[in-house]
Amino acid sequence: MLARFFTVLLIAVLLPHTCAAETDRDTVYQVSTLAALLDGHYDGETTLHSLRGKGDFGIGTFEGLDGEMILLDGIFYQARADGSVVKPDDSLKTPFACVTRFDADHELPLAEDTNYEALKRQLDRKFATKGLPYAIRVKGTFKQIRVRSVPAQKKPYPRLTEVVKQQPVFDYENVEGTLVGFCLPPSLEGVNVPGYHLHLISKDTKKGGHLLAFTLAEGTVQVDDSPEVRLAFSAAAARAGLGVQKAKREEIERVEKEEE
Ligand SMILES: [Zn+2]
Repeated sequence: MLARFFTVLLIAVLLPHTCAAETDRDTVYQVSTLAALLDGHYDGETTLHSLRGKGDFGIGTFEGLDGEMILLDGIFYQARADGSVVKPDDSLKTPFACVTRFDADHELPLAEDTNYEALKRQLDRKFATKGLPYAIRVKGTFKQIRVRSVPAQKKPYPRLTEVVKQQPVFDYENVEGTLVGFCLPPSLEGVNVPGYHLHLISKDTKKGGHLLAFTLAEGTVQVDDSPEVRLAFSAAAARAGLGVQKAKREEIERVEKEEE
């Protein structure tokens, strides 16, 4: 009798836990909002150690806006403004990041000379139901690729639109690597960047940054349906009055889409 009671109890405890773990794999976890970042909230919120508990794949930035974050297969990379890429310490914090556990739900080979615009068109046609979030991973060899990073800032922090005026841009040729990122719906505008947002990490882990343009030699794109978004607002940003108002579309485009 006692044994049966324990069995029932065990199932009761384990079942909801198992379900939660499976659901979590399709969840995008986000630290703070783009609106707060645009307003200059670059103070770290969450350690990389803790963020790794929420996902093995994603993008973001680091405390003080010190470079572009790439999280691939559970490993963090920091693409800095001098063009170098380092593996940051687990104790480093991020003011803004977006991660998930990547499972490829769809895969598509990409033709030679596919560029960023063609990739977006292809994905929009094939998978992206406008209105839902997706995680996107492109593995391939790039004939040309252009990325940028952001220089670390000192307090008092300037607005993000001021920082990107000095963003260093890097052009590389014949790079083997992975693009890591998301396609997010227009309804998330201001909370994050609507549309496509990808970061590069090269296979040799020596090159990386926020993707601006590319021409592919050969490659494959994988898409992970990620219909759930969990957002951790920054209490510190809110207390400082940063990111309280909805972000302006022209500012989002200036910092994430276009190069200066
Ligand atoms: Zn970026």
